[in-house]
Amino acid sequence: MPKLFIPGPTEVHPAQREAQTRPMIGHRSKIYAELHASIEARLKKIMFTENRVFIGTCSATGVIEAALRNSVKKKVLVPANGFFASKWVDVSESCGIEAVRLDFELGRAVKPEDIEKALKSDPEIDAVMLTHSETSTGVLSPLKEIAAVVREFPNVVLLVDCVSSFAAAEIRTDEWGIDLILFGMQKALALPAGLAFCSVSPEIMERSKNQPKGRKGYYFDFVEWEKAAVKNNTIITPAVSLLFALDHQLDEILKEGIEARWAKHSEMQKITMEWAKQHDISYFSEEGYHSPGISVLNNSKNWNIAEINEKLRVQHDCEIANGYKDLKEKTFRIGHMGDHSPEDICELLGWIDGIVAEG
Ligand SMILES: *Cc1c(COP(=O)(O)O)cnc(C)c1O
Repeated sequence: MPKLFIPGPTEVHPAQREAQTRPMIGHRSKIYAELHASIEARLKKIMFTENRVFIGTCSATGVIEAALRNSVKKKVLVPANGFFASKWVDVSESCGIEAVRLDFELGRAVKPEDIEKALKSDPEIDAVMLTHSETSTGVLSPLKEIAAVVREFPNVVLLVDCVSSFAAAEIRTDEWGIDLILFGMQKALALPAGLAFCSVSPEIMERSKNQPKGRKGYYFDFVEWEKAAVKNNTIITPAVSLLFALDHQLDEILKEGIEARWAKHSEMQKITMEWAKQHDISYFSEEGYHSPGISVLNNSKNWNIAEINEKLRVQHDCEIANGYKDLKEKTFRIGHMGDHSPEDICELLGWIDGIVAEG
């Protein structure tokens, strides 16, 4: 199978893959409760939070829906600066939640002043659903500064999609005053997909308790999740094999150090940026706001990305990604996320150089 240098799913190392084959355990057993408790404790460490961390068996989008259903009272502000961010408008509306869409030119980062202006202009907004790293455009919005602005509005909670930034970019949940961060497994955590996680502040839990009947449904009701979480359990059968993989990976990440992991991602981003500069290739994402885990580059050389990818597969057993949706032909994407090392990225870029030189 080709080694993945795409923006998710990411390459999973053999030890994490093999951890999934541990013998199955009953999820109402003591041994499961111990595993659950230990995973939550380690997640809290790398999330920099003292709040409850829920473990959901669903993809990240499931927890996005859960966050919206449990937290929004009247209206949610959705800064729509890319294809993922825009999707949260649709998800809100499909749950019967009124979303205020804030449009951006593609490739732009969300700025604190944009949020401040939007919140001032509509006092009925009581939540913001921000996409920290917009995977389609490779933009990382300044989360710390945005959180500081949201904190000036005491009736507004901040929900953050950290799917392609968690474990790649610096995120200090409690210190920055973020009510809820969420992410899945298949991006910078370098694991198979299938579980998703979120931290919930006491304010989120209070809101969840007071939601009108029917707003939350059952599967995504945080009040139900909390009843199970106090017993180190979940309301449904969790994907235990994936928890085994996560169990192994959390130890690896804590050994590496989360700050070192952030630094490693910055370094991989810098290497890619240098390489792009040498080729006179510009970033699609706004200068100064490049996501540490993904480079979205303008295909100004009109490279045939499908052909380059075919050669990468045949010659080097790896692949990169073309652009996302409308940007398919205009850009190409290199995922330098998860357990890749700076050496891996240098090697990959060298291979691309070789293929391009061949013509
Ligand atoms: C990948 C991704 C998602 C979707 O995650 P799923 O696990 O497929 O639901 C959401 N947001 C961002 C920013 C992503 O990169």
